[in-house]
Amino acid sequence: MYPQFIYYLLQYIKFQESIIYKLLGIILGKSIARGLYDEPINKPYRKLEVDDMPIIEVLEKFDYQELLTNYQAKHGKELKPVVRRKNSKTKVPKNLTCPQCVAPSPFIYANNGDKGQYQCKVCGCLFSKQNRFLKEAVIKCPHCLKTLDRIKERKDFYVFKCRNNTCSYYKRKLKQMSKDEKLRFKQDPQAFKVRYIFREFNLDFEPLAKETPVKPKVDLSRIYVSPHTLGLILTYYINYGLSARKTAALMFDVHSVKISHQTILNYANSVALITKPFVDHYPYELSNSFCGDETYIRVKGRWHYLFFFFDAVKKIILSYPVSSNRDTPSAIKAIGDVLIKFKEIPEDLMFVVDGNPIYILAQHYFAQHDIHFDVHKVIGLTNDDPVSTEYRPLKQIIERLNRTFKGNYRATTGFGSQAGSVSYVTLFVAYFNFLRPHASLEYQVPVVIPGLEKMPNMPARWTKLIELSQDYLVDHQSA
Ligand SMILES: [Zn+2]
Ligand SMILES: [Zn+2]
Repeated sequence: MYPQFIYYLLQYIKFQESIIYKLLGIILGKSIARGLYDEPINKPYRKLEVDDMPIIEVLEKFDYQELLTNYQAKHGKELKPVVRRKNSKTKVPKNLTCPQCVAPSPFIYANNGDKGQYQCKVCGCLFSKQNRFLKEAVIKCPHCLKTLDRIKERKDFYVFKCRNNTCSYYKRKLKQMSKDEKLRFKQDPQAFKVRYIFREFNLDFEPLAKETPVKPKVDLSRIYVSPHTLGLILTYYINYGLSARKTAALMFDVHSVKISHQTILNYANSVALITKPFVDHYPYELSNSFCGDETYIRVKGRWHYLFFFFDAVKKIILSYPVSSNRDTPSAIKAIGDVLIKFKEIPEDLMFVVDGNPIYILAQHYFAQHDIHFDVHKVIGLTNDDPVSTEYRPLKQIIERLNRTFKGNYRATTGFGSQAGSVSYVTLFVAYFNFLRPHASLEYQVPVVIPGLEKMPNMPARWTKLIELSQDYLVDHQSA
C-alpha cells in the first residue's frame, strides 16, 4: 500500500540518518561523540540515573476516507474491514481508532491484542493503547527503537519504560552486574534499574503552595555537557534571546559543540524546573508599588497571555503566569503571585496597570478576602499613547519585556507545549532578576547576590545560579 510504503521509507531514512549522525560524532571527535552517546564526561550534578532522550516520532496525519478512496481508485475494489475469527481471543475495542488516520475499529488488526499492540489496515501504522493517547507523537526507546510503554502516572509526569527483552540497554545492564548483584537482582528485581526509562513532564504550574516550595521531579545529571557549556547555552538562549536553533548553530560554529535545538529546549526545561522554586521563593526586598501587563505569546499555534508583575522601584519580576485567557481569574492569579511574596502586605500597596478592567475586578476579589490595595490605571502604559515622565521607566521595562518575548516565543513554539513556554519565561525571569544589570539601578542587577556577582562571566553566573537553586531545594526538601 502506498502510504504504508512511504511510512516505512521514512522510518528507514530516519534510521540511516541516526547512523550517519553517530558516525559523524565519531569522526568529529571522541569527546563530542562520547558526550552525546556514552557516559557523561563531566557529571556536574548529582542524584538519580536519568537516561538519554527517547526518540520522539511525530506521526504524519492521514484521512482514512481519503486513503480508502485512493485504494478503490488504484485497485478497482474497496478495502474491506478486517475479517475476524469468531473465537478469536484478541478483541479490538469498538471505540478504538487509528491514531494516524482515524480509521474506525473495524479496520484495526489486533496484532497481539493481549499486549495491546494494534495495526491499522488502512494506513499500516502500528500502535498500542498507551501510546495512542500521545496524540501526535510516538515515544521510542533510543536503544532498540521499540515503542515505550507508559507505566506510571505521577503528579507532574508520566513514566515510560522499554519492556523489550532484547533491548541493548537492558542486555548491557544485565551484563554489567557482578555475580553478587545478579543474585540480588533475582531476589529483588525492583531494586535495580535495568530498563530504559523516560519521564514525560506535563507541568501546568498550578499556583504554588504558600509555605512549601514544590520540589521538581527533575535532575540535572541528564545534562551531558559541562556546567560552562550549559552556562553558554543559557546565555545565548536567554540573555541574548536567540532561538534554540540559532543557539544550536552558534554552539557548533563558534564552540564546536554539537547539540540539537531540541536538546537545548530540554535543558532549558530542566534548568527552569530547578530554578523556579528559587526564583519564586527568594526573600525579595520589595517596595510598595508594582506594575503589571499582559503580553501575547503563541503556544502550540494558539495565543496565550503572559501576565507579568514587577516591582516598579526594584525592577524585580514577581509574577509571570501564562494563561490561555485574558480574564479575571488570570489577573487574580498574577496579583496573587505578587501578594504571596510579602510577609506582611503593605498598607499603601499599589498596582500600576493599563486600562484593562480585569485588574479592577481582581482588586474587588481580593478586597472580599480582606486584602486591600490601590489600582492605578495609566493610559498609554502599554500602547503607543504618550505617557507622563513619571511612568516612562515603567513603560520602557514593559516594552523591553514585550520585545524579548515576542522575539522569542516563535522559537519556543517548537516545544509545542505550555510547559515549554513557561520554562522560557521562568529562565527569563531568573535572568532579569539576578543576572541582568539595569540602567535605572546604576547598572546593578535588581537582586544582588554576592556569590553571583563575583563570578567572572555570564556562563559562570548561570552555573552559580543553578547551584544556588539546587542548594535551595536541598535545604527545603525535608519540608
Ligand atoms: Zn490508520
Ligand atoms: Zn529499548
